[in-house]
Amino acid sequence: MFTKGFVEFALTKLSLLFFTAKSAIRFYEEQASDSDTLEMKVQLLPSSIDENGCASQRQHLLSIIIDDRVAIDAGCLAFSCTDVQREQVRDIILTHPHLDHIAALPMYIDDLFAMLKEPIRIHATRESIDILERDIFNWAVYPRFSELKNDFGAVIEYHEFSQGTVFEAAHLSVRSVPVNHQVGSNGYFISDRTASIAITGDTAETDEIWRECGSSANLKAMMVECAFPDELDDLAEASFHLTPKRLRAELEKIGERRFPVYVINLKPMYRDEVIEQLKAEEIPNLEILEVGKVYEF
Ligand SMILES: [Zn+2]
Repeated sequence: MFTKGFVEFALTKLSLLFFTAKSAIRFYEEQASDSDTLEMKVQLLPSSIDENGCASQRQHLLSIIIDDRVAIDAGCLAFSCTDVQREQVRDIILTHPHLDHIAALPMYIDDLFAMLKEPIRIHATRESIDILERDIFNWAVYPRFSELKNDFGAVIEYHEFSQGTVFEAAHLSVRSVPVNHQVGSNGYFISDRTASIAITGDTAETDEIWRECGSSANLKAMMVECAFPDELDDLAEASFHLTPKRLRAELEKIGERRFPVYVINLKPMYRDEVIEQLKAEEIPNLEILEVGKVYEF
């Protein structure tokens, strides 16, 4: 019924159609993955396991990864980052040098030592750098990596910044804000130029970071600490941390707030109590940052 020429013509048309459809699907997938990268990915790494051996919500150490490329603090970085994160994270921004924020830093450098083709950049204040060099990388606790090289060169590089200044870390622009904790602690406004998030780090009552919220363009979310329950108010005060009641008063300093607040740094032994007390405070647009979950802002 059909001539050979017609069949050949039809087959060519069909394969062209198939090819076009495949290209369209590929184009759609590329567009989708491009738009995925527009979001800022934020993940609080796990630092303990539950009775089934799975990541637990109890947070002993702090390390937050942004876009699988930049770490805020290195409390548990070496222990619970993914292979992709270990491959990609070369910028580590420290809020302050307390052990729960730096515990995995020596191991992270150690694990990568031989294969680093560029140094790990540690963004920190002069005070934090001096503490790391004096108390951690002092050849007694761990090797002084700043004096060592692998086949490709230096393995770490300190990038010093002053409190209150703006600096670059990988693809991010970071504004540091002094907060109220010991050892010159910093909070940060972190921007990938389309969105910003803020992190208080450890802090007691403070003002500047709340004031800055109003002037930070496109602020999508803020991570705030709340370490102790209300009945340990004296301990919170002595150690420069917040309780649910104190946090409520702090957030009221912001005034009208359009962005969500995610609570971090709940001391593991008081976690359930702090969560109950935060619920009772009925603070709007506030939740607990889930350990391990990848948030996109
Ligand atoms: Zn601290």
